[in-house]
Amino acid sequence: MEVAVIGAGPVGLMLAAELRLGGAEVVVLDRRAAPDGRPRANGLGGRIVEQLDHRGLLGRFRAEAAFAGPFPGFPFGAVPLNFAKLGRSPLHGLMVQQPRMEALLTERALELGAEIRRGHALVDLGTVRGPDGDYHLDARYVVGCDGAHSRVRELAGIGFPGTTDGELLRLGHFRADVPLFAATTRGWDRRPGGRVLVTSLTPGVVIVGVREVTPEPPGEPTLDEFRAALRRVLGEDLPLGEPLWLSRTTSSARLATRYRAGHVFLAGDAAHVFPAGGSALNVGLLDAVNLGWKLAAVVRGSAPESLLDSYHAERHPVAARTLTQTRVQALLDRLTGEDGDALRTLFGELAAFPEPTRHLGELLRDADELPYVPDLPLVVDGEPTRVAEVMRAARTVLFDFADRADLREAAGPDVKIVTARCPDAPADALLVRPDGVVTFSGDDPASLREALTAPGR
Ligand SMILES: Cc1cc2nc3c(=O)[nH]c(=O)nc-3n(C[C@H](O)[C@H](O)[C@H](O)COP(=O)(O)OP(=O)(O)OC[C@H]3O[C@@H](n4cnc5c(N)ncnc54)[C@H](O)[C@@H]3O)c2cc1C
Repeated sequence: MEVAVIGAGPVGLMLAAELRLGGAEVVVLDRRAAPDGRPRANGLGGRIVEQLDHRGLLGRFRAEAAFAGPFPGFPFGAVPLNFAKLGRSPLHGLMVQQPRMEALLTERALELGAEIRRGHALVDLGTVRGPDGDYHLDARYVVGCDGAHSRVRELAGIGFPGTTDGELLRLGHFRADVPLFAATTRGWDRRPGGRVLVTSLTPGVVIVGVREVTPEPPGEPTLDEFRAALRRVLGEDLPLGEPLWLSRTTSSARLATRYRAGHVFLAGDAAHVFPAGGSALNVGLLDAVNLGWKLAAVVRGSAPESLLDSYHAERHPVAARTLTQTRVQALLDRLTGEDGDALRTLFGELAAFPEPTRHLGELLRDADELPYVPDLPLVVDGEPTRVAEVMRAARTVLFDFADRADLREAAGPDVKIVTARCPDAPADALLVRPDGVVTFSGDDPASLREALTAPGR
């Protein structure tokens, strides 16, 4: 087996599809016998939306989305950012519940020829426990997409330093047709004993959240426990409808010390967990997009093994920066008393100016500082198209905007050549990796050849 992906969560499924597009054989193993139906994330936001467009997946996601498009604002911790004043929102999103996202990504991975084995748990790096007993896992590369408590990370001896705070988040989805409660809040309602959120994304379903500093009780969450927590924090009972789903989470801020140990890699929650919402899937799915084409190129023999080191070099700093912004969001949200009020007031004053709002919006969109190709309109063979459409094959592409035979020749046989007309072309040619990173922009064939053999080519 060329690549074994451990975990059929959103990141493992995205990686499987990217590996197949790159021509690698992939088997995805998940210890659960069936997909996880828990409604965790409510949506995606950030550069991953553009990346889904590069893979031709945006239409499928949009068709399922309660909202798709530019976000008019975003709650940065407890501070509302208003993107209307920027003229153009830096943050685009797709509000699709996580189980539906996973179904779409499963469909895609299967269409591309990935094998998904459910009910198969990795017990050590060479052994899988399947429904018919243990078997040997003989994979050239293993990628741990197995979530925050990653077994792969543990087996590879990779540290996961950071902090886990004492605040417990209880979330419940309830069937409630009653015009929910006078208590419906526009954000987290801060009370002396904690915070409460009451909101709705789907008609007839109300989401209630309660946060308080308390140890996590043993066993599965119960409705009685949920009601008691609400009563403690809010000081009153709410007319909760039928519970559809209850959960408990203690938030953590942690980052793997390395994303690679020999033939083992980490991606998604296995590599990083953030203490505030909204960024985890953006960063995790983009890990998969960065790693997929590289692993596939090495497996195919069209790139040296050293290319794989650029995965940690490029993605670890992104999660580190995301950890910084999510730690600040968590602090803005949680700090109580006069200190907390002062912090939120001053942050709110700063957020009234366009530049800080733009900076935070762009940080939420993507903490990656590599140059990504803009979605330029093109004309190819007389037909109008876009950069995103050309990128669907997940190949390295030379966009030749000036009909330069010398640049086309310098690109060599592994590169897809697209001769295009583009009034907004930034240079004679652009060389773009399968994940959208521009590695060459210019007119000099020698520099183009250099870009094709650089460490992160
Ligand atoms: C309540 C809640 C709300 C959230 N809201 C948001 C949000 O709005 N936006 C956002 O971006 N993120 C959100 N998140 C985070 C998001 O759900 C995670 O970041 C995402 O699920 C991570 O995906 P993953 O594929 O890395 O890991 P997971 O989804 O955790 O998948 C890991 C998979 O690995 C499998 N596995 C584990 N161990 C083994 C093993 N030994 N062998 C085989 N398989 C194994 C598991 O069964 C699982 O299927 C939320 C999380 C929670 C809990």
